[in-house]
Amino acid sequence: MPRPGAMQGEVLRTVLSRKTATIRYPFEPAVRPERVRGKMKHDIEKCRGCSLCKKDCPAAAIEMIPSTKTKTKKKPEFDLSRCIFCGTCEAHCPAKAIEFTTEFELACFTPKGQIVVSEDPKE
Ligand code: SF4
Ligand code: SF4
Repeated sequence: MPRPGAMQGEVLRTVLSRKTATIRYPFEPAVRPERVRGKMKHDIEKCRGCSLCKKDCPAAAIEMIPSTKTKTKKKPEFDLSRCIFCGTCEAHCPAKAIEFTTEFELACFTPKGQIVVSEDPKE
């Protein structure tokens, strides 16, 4: 337990030392923690089309759409406008086909821009 006034002392020291506490984002790149969850990547080569990601998604952000690549002929399509970035799909995927990137600048002009889907490889 910090002693009373210790926090105020720390704030005062930062202010007096004139260290900058903020960054000039977006003019400077934002510092992102290594494990932050941004836009996900889906690897169609690993995907089995099992639908577990869709079943376990608490935000109903995943739809299964047709695919020529997977065994079940289905693959997930992620809707970032619904996604709460909880990480459940990544954690529950038995094939390790989902991975989060640190890409967090996800604003876009069309609903299609919020969709993450992997291309079927050409035969
Ligand atoms: S991404 Fe993973 S959990 Fe989702 S369908 Fe493919 S293999 Fe199954
Ligand atoms: S991160 Fe969570 S909310 Fe987003 S698609 Fe995966 S399971 Fe659904």
